[in-house]
Amino acid sequence: MENNPVTERLHALTMLQVLDSKLDEIHRLRGSLPEEVSDLEDDLEGLETRKARVEEEIQQLKSDINERKAKIEEFGAHIKRYEEQQMNVKNNREYEALRKEIEYANLEILTSEKKIRQFNEQIEQRQDQLTRTTALVDDKHNELEEKKKELEVIIEDTKQEEKRLLEKIEEASKGIEGRILNGYRKIRLNMRNGLAVVSTDRTACGGCFSVIPPQIHIELKRRTRLIHCENCGRILVDEGFFDEVKEELSTKESA
Ligand SMILES: [Zn+2]
Repeated sequence: MENNPVTERLHALTMLQVLDSKLDEIHRLRGSLPEEVSDLEDDLEGLETRKARVEEEIQQLKSDINERKAKIEEFGAHIKRYEEQQMNVKNNREYEALRKEIEYANLEILTSEKKIRQFNEQIEQRQDQLTRTTALVDDKHNELEEKKKELEVIIEDTKQEEKRLLEKIEEASKGIEGRILNGYRKIRLNMRNGLAVVSTDRTACGGCFSVIPPQIHIELKRRTRLIHCENCGRILVDEGFFDEVKEELSTKESA
């Protein structure tokens, strides 16, 4: 590594940034999955409730049908009794009264038969609804199981990766003075993408994309001064640092 202490510090800061970004990525991965899982659990709960309600409605309709069937039987029995009584009436008035009762009972039977047909239609509709809802429940259930597994795997995988990164971050931090390290941490906290150290993208700051004066560019290439972007305050480094750090990390990993 270079002998100049500032160059070494810039290298260490870049290393720290790359490691911290990897850690951020892990947290982002974990961050969205638990939410997705709980969203799916909510969806599933809603669907299960809907399914249970439809099932209840079907049960209610079936018991309504049974009630109507009992009514038909009851009125059927009435009619039979009235017809028997009609055989033994003493006068026309009595006969007429029974005829009216029979007519009423027949109407009741017709009404109930119509109701039963309507209830059966409603049951058919509910059954369709139930089939669709059950399919949705199954889909959501499968999706949930997959997400849960995914989350478990990620947590399991990233646990080790996280531990490894935290160790490396501690190691990298040792090479940086406290004052500069605090500055770095402060900038990182203020940046939504967590980037405190950036290289330049052609002639612009890699963080805020404001133009970097040519003189600063030359200084960055010299690697002997800690330079902050005048616009966003991030630490600017020669892009070569990032390449070096990435190569260093990949050779370490394969070793
Ligand atoms: Zn900037």
